[in-house]
Amino acid sequence: MKKLFLIGIVILLLCGCEGEKNVESYISSDKALVSINYPVTNINILDDKISAYVNQTYYNFKKMKSTIKPELNISYTYKEINSEIVNVSIKTEIITDKTINKIKTFTYNKNNDKFLTMEDLVGDLEGFDYEIKKELLEKYQDADMEYLSNISYDYFTIDDDNLTLYFNPTEIKSKYEELIYLDIPLDSLKLLINIDEFEENDTYLSIKKRNISLDDKVVALTFDDGPSKYTEKILDVLKKYDACGTFFLIGNKVDFYRDVLKRMINEGSEIGNHSYDHKLLTRLSKKQFEEEINKTQDAIKKATGFTPLLFRPTYGGYTDLLKSYTDLKFVLWDVDSRDWQVKTKSKILQNVLPNVKSGSIILMHDNHEYSLNALNDIISNLKKQGYKFVTVSELLELKNLRENE
Ligand code: ZN
Repeated sequence: MKKLFLIGIVILLLCGCEGEKNVESYISSDKALVSINYPVTNINILDDKISAYVNQTYYNFKKMKSTIKPELNISYTYKEINSEIVNVSIKTEIITDKTINKIKTFTYNKNNDKFLTMEDLVGDLEGFDYEIKKELLEKYQDADMEYLSNISYDYFTIDDDNLTLYFNPTEIKSKYEELIYLDIPLDSLKLLINIDEFEENDTYLSIKKRNISLDDKVVALTFDDGPSKYTEKILDVLKKYDACGTFFLIGNKVDFYRDVLKRMINEGSEIGNHSYDHKLLTRLSKKQFEEEINKTQDAIKKATGFTPLLFRPTYGGYTDLLKSYTDLKFVLWDVDSRDWQVKTKSKILQNVLPNVKSGSIILMHDNHEYSLNALNDIISNLKKQGYKFVTVSELLELKNLRENE
């Protein structure tokens, strides 16, 4: 008995110390356009700080006045620098009558339960400070010396190539709106910590083919704003009915759910692009829009080997000009579950089932549990009516074939 108890404790210690990492995601277009995405690392002290910061930012945002529809975008980067140190950045963009950009970063050492400062990274902060100010003046020639003398090195991220320092706009000059940043190549630095090389996983791809004939009744289920902790459960339901979906993913979350993405492809679902940070696209420049698309394409390709062909615009908002900036096919929907708004299974079923016809594209979301709760009933009901489930690409191909028949 005692032995069993001990084994139990060892097993608990082995698997219990760190749960699954995931991304918390809140997206809404009610009174304001809100896209909040941030990582849950399962390091309690770090998660508490991140969620407190995000909640405070959202609270402040809700009190802001604006003559245009206000928009809040909270996005993040997450990097395991080595087996002990995690680096998270939280970027905030607030668009009201003016635009505000802010950043906060957290670098945490799990081994000694400490947040790391720049001094912990570079040692001699004085020499570092001199070099950085020199480079900042080169890059931002109109920087104000008085502002510059007060800069701090609180915010930084580390990726495979660079240590990136961030400065909130007002640290350089009062009028800047964009975040100020400086990339410093890692090769040029002698850091006091080790940085693990990124391990490239073998990517693989085996797309399942379905037998569909020209006169089949077909329907495409689409899921926006994932992946999330609910996505695997959605895949379970799809699998149970031998159905499939098209998942329009938010790029910044992809690295957290690489296995889920592989499962989507292997089980016959399709992956589409839903931008990197879920900003309202019609407010972006061409360059910003391309960045939103390309970063997501790269992340999905890196995770699965598959490069998406489809794009779903955030909040359904786009212009012909935006469309002309990319080769990806813009995909909207004709049946809207309004799952994020109505929340209950019965209302979701009411919004979906009476409105489906052959060739329909149904809009749902997999960043919360609402559509998941209704999915069983949606699929079994449509199956009984003789519908076959196809991906959006298959649906478009079928439409093409039918038109050319
Ligand atoms: Zn969306």
